[in-house]
Amino acid sequence: MKKHNFSAGPCILPQEVLKQASDAILNFNNDNLSLIEISHRSKPFIEVMDKAIDLAKELLKIPKGYSVLFLQGGASMEFLMVPLNLMKINGKAAYTNTGVWAKKAIAEAKKLGDVIVLGDSSDTNYNYIKKGYKIPVDSDYFHCTSNNTIYGTQMKEFPMSPSLMVCDMSSDIFSRRIDVSKFDIIYAGAQKNMGPAGTTLVIVKDDILGKTGRDIPTMLDYNTHISKGSMFNTPPVFPIYVSMLNLQWLKNLGGVEAIEKLNQEKSDLLYSEIDRNPLFEGSAAKEDRSNMNVCFLLNDSSKEDKFNTLWNAAGISGIKGHRSVGGYRASMYNALPIESVEVLVDIMKNLEKN
Ligand SMILES: *Cc1c(COP(=O)(O)O)cnc(C)c1O
Repeated sequence: MKKHNFSAGPCILPQEVLKQASDAILNFNNDNLSLIEISHRSKPFIEVMDKAIDLAKELLKIPKGYSVLFLQGGASMEFLMVPLNLMKINGKAAYTNTGVWAKKAIAEAKKLGDVIVLGDSSDTNYNYIKKGYKIPVDSDYFHCTSNNTIYGTQMKEFPMSPSLMVCDMSSDIFSRRIDVSKFDIIYAGAQKNMGPAGTTLVIVKDDILGKTGRDIPTMLDYNTHISKGSMFNTPPVFPIYVSMLNLQWLKNLGGVEAIEKLNQEKSDLLYSEIDRNPLFEGSAAKEDRSNMNVCFLLNDSSKEDKFNTLWNAAGISGIKGHRSVGGYRASMYNALPIESVEVLVDIMKNLEKN
């Protein structure tokens, strides 16, 4: 039986995408060669790369003047690439501190300049999103994390930035509509809503680069990858291919607008049960609740074993909470069908009845 996969990342991908991906490993394009044993400079792979870029542009309605890159090193590499490419010498940047990933981004930026920390919610273990802070006009850029995967909080609105606007969208990219024109850099590790680990999507506005006065190491310079179309060196062909298939799946489904509706239905279903059922309690502030990662606690610890047995028996996987929050976390990325959420909700209801 196929599992109901609520894993926070790497996470669920559509079955048909996995099937196509496995076919391509053995025989790509009916050419009796594997996708992973042909040149990345061959026509078939260049077509894959072009299609992945075009699909990202189409699905997110990326305006002209932006480049779409598929890099390596994960979102964690972007924590360093962003300040290297945007922070002036003796410069400063403003960062929100909304969770562990934000904190790691801050640590990298601090190696290159001053960091002003805004919207810090570490006082309550990051269970809400602080608002109403003022971004200093003289900062080189502002950095935020749109969805805090570990704590289940999500920015529903983005502040107006007087400087460049950078966002780590690793765990909610392609899950809801965004106005890309409001951002200068958006990045996302693939493994949460786009594809397998191994590539990072970076959307960067071309005319913001080359202004720091820094000598940026070649591989860490966005301009290197822009000028070579993400093929300065061998790109991670498999994760890019699977991301392309997954974006095509999303397009066939009706695109970001359609998936946003489905994601809203899934999260309404689960949050309403958490709020209704006296045994459970959501751990994030209501107005900041993430539609991707739903964190909740079981109030009665004597029922824990029973609950764990029930969801295990139903084929549910990956709902244990992150060690820094405890409880449970149901991640409901794009590919998770609403039927899986219904199974979880039924179990929560049964636990109350028994
Ligand atoms: C998972 C995650 C990261 C880290 O991604 P890697 O690709 O593993 O480096 C960064 N930011 C957010 C919001 C994440 O969810």
